[in-house]
Amino acid sequence: MRKDACLILYMVIPCYNEEKVLPITAGMFLDKIKELVSQKKIDDRSRVLFVNDGSKDDTWNIICGLAKEDEHYLGITQSRNRGHQNAVLAGLMEAKDACDITISIDCDGQDDINAMNEMVDAYLDGCEVVYGVRNSRTTDTFFKRFTAEGFYKFLNWMGAEVVYNHADYRLVSSRVLKEFANFHEVNLFLRGMFPLVGFQSTSVYYARAERMEGESHYPLKKMLALALDGITSLSIKPIRMITSFGFMVSIASFIGILWAIISALAGNTVSGWSSIICVICFFSGIQLICLGVIGEYIGKVYMEAKGRPRYIISERTWEDKNERLPKRK
Ligand code: UDP
Ligand code: MG
Repeated sequence: MRKDACLILYMVIPCYNEEKVLPITAGMFLDKIKELVSQKKIDDRSRVLFVNDGSKDDTWNIICGLAKEDEHYLGITQSRNRGHQNAVLAGLMEAKDACDITISIDCDGQDDINAMNEMVDAYLDGCEVVYGVRNSRTTDTFFKRFTAEGFYKFLNWMGAEVVYNHADYRLVSSRVLKEFANFHEVNLFLRGMFPLVGFQSTSVYYARAERMEGESHYPLKKMLALALDGITSLSIKPIRMITSFGFMVSIASFIGILWAIISALAGNTVSGWSSIICVICFFSGIQLICLGVIGEYIGKVYMEAKGRPRYIISERTWEDKNERLPKRK
């Protein structure tokens, strides 16, 4: 059992156009901090850190208002919208030197905040990373459930190691975050990257609720993009599959050539226009797909080679007060 009388927790909460749900959930996060403080599990210097991901609505003003109201609320804003993964990363990197543990959670109230108690307990028991895992998806629509479950199965099959049904609700210690800061890739797929950092980890199970207000920012198109990012940034299995397929086709072609020669020598060749067209169509399709997959990797290399910043923070709520985020020793 780890003993830390003054454990500082930072909740990292990405928000994009969440003016409807933020006023409802912000209080829940603060209450959770206060509850954990009263249980003497965490220190009162723990904070709720909102990351505004370049929202176009009133989200940032709401966050600034909250920060004025209660010192437990902090906020940073990105210079523009960069996506959920980058927003979480910005928050984690901002928090890592000021706290002992971070918990990243969406701001829409879908993830059960009561699972945090168990997460903190698991940390106290020695785990450095605790994954929040949904144990059922009954509140999701059938379509969302079907696509999301398919998503995890497909990712694992393609060689991207991810915890089944774990999204981005997780506890990560600052020790792990300091190591994680050495992962410089621009193509972010956090849930697949933390298992690569290692350290002792466990999972905590919770039931996922419905979004309290507002609408999901993850329609099918974005989910597919995330799946593609997950696969191509964590695994080269698709390229290997192409190579294996290339070998199989080569062997088949070799047999085909032998067969053609033997048939020609035997003098029973027939005019097979349609079969030739079919073969050409089939293989040109396959070739295009293979080129696309390889192109996807080349695109990734291109983005990584440029090494652009993964997030740019334009404002911090505590800068208004001429303060700095305290450094945790
Ligand atoms: N989000 C973000 N930037 C984006 C899209 C989403 O920071 O470009 C945040 C959003 O505010 C929420 C979380 O990411 O806190 C998850 O988004 P959402 O609830 O829309 O996804 P879903 O739960 O439907 O998969
Ligand atoms: Mg959500």
